[in-house]
Amino acid sequence: MRVLFAAPARLWDAWAPALGAACPEMQLCRDGDPAGFDALIYAPGYPEDGTTLDFTPFTRARVVQSLWAGVERIVTNPTLTQPLCRMVDPGLALGMREYCLGWALRAHLGMDRYAQDGIWRSHLTPPLAAGRSVTVLGMGELGRAVASALMGLGFRVTGWSGSGRPVRGIEVLPGPHLPEALSRAEILICLLPDTPGTRGLLDRDRLAMLPRGATVINAGRGTLIDEQALLAALDNGLGHAVLDVFQTEPLPPDHPFWSHPQVTVTPHVSAETRPESAATVAAENLRRAMRGEPLLHLVDRARGY
Ligand code: NAP
Repeated sequence: MRVLFAAPARLWDAWAPALGAACPEMQLCRDGDPAGFDALIYAPGYPEDGTTLDFTPFTRARVVQSLWAGVERIVTNPTLTQPLCRMVDPGLALGMREYCLGWALRAHLGMDRYAQDGIWRSHLTPPLAAGRSVTVLGMGELGRAVASALMGLGFRVTGWSGSGRPVRGIEVLPGPHLPEALSRAEILICLLPDTPGTRGLLDRDRLAMLPRGATVINAGRGTLIDEQALLAALDNGLGHAVLDVFQTEPLPPDHPFWSHPQVTVTPHVSAETRPESAATVAAENLRRAMRGEPLLHLVDRARGY
């Protein structure tokens, strides 16, 4: 099986050994005749000359396996007719769970209030988790992992997704109930993909539905939030925003988020695909493709995720 590593060169050293170990029967190549490849392993940033990848010559390829969970940069490529699979990696979900729990606990416990300023703030005892409502927007692989962990700590968790597909032990509100989901969110955790349906979803009106003092944690995609509306909301009662993703990345040095006292910026580090675990997922999909079996984590091209 010949597979093209259609990813930026800097990823080769980390991925080639892991993919080779997970799929010894594969010949992983950095270039070659497109018509000779059975599959592609893809990551954004390829080709590195900034052009858009033309999938047309890959006439034999049976699958394009993304190394990223978010596929917005490739899903609309009109030349892509091969099946596209996104990455669902146990390591990714664990990383996201830790990131969201960490920042949610910081907001819940009000950790920032305890400055080294000599003031004994003993009246500021935080409530127990059972007294705190958290809403998770997006109840997919990542949202479910985060919501379940929050529930395990005792938080009152509400999920929201387009379908409202049930998740054991958690109330999941469907699409039209977004206002209710937002109105409950003392802490709002956003884990939605970038699609036409989610772009700009958190606009001025929807941000105004959050309880006063709420914290917004966005680790999905930056396109979800109207950034100017968020800045205005922070001036008008919204408590804090922890942002890992942005409309433009890297976040420009002069962006107001960097110096805003109610904003925490993290540089798109909330969860990374871990080659050790993700290579196994990719290998399984490559084998399935070669055997003509149903693929894992197939992207629905119409929905865009
Ligand atoms: P997933 O399994 O595909 O789940 C997506 C969830 O979003 C589903 O619950 C889906 O609801 C919901 N959804 C999609 N469009 C919607 C809409 N218009 N309205 C309401 N709900 C909608 O995705 P995932 O693996 O959890 O990953 C989520 C996103 O996280 C990825 O797409 C990626 O962009 C981002 N991410 C970020 C990082 C990082 O480092 N910051 C790392 C990994 C992933 P349905 O039930 O209706 O399908």
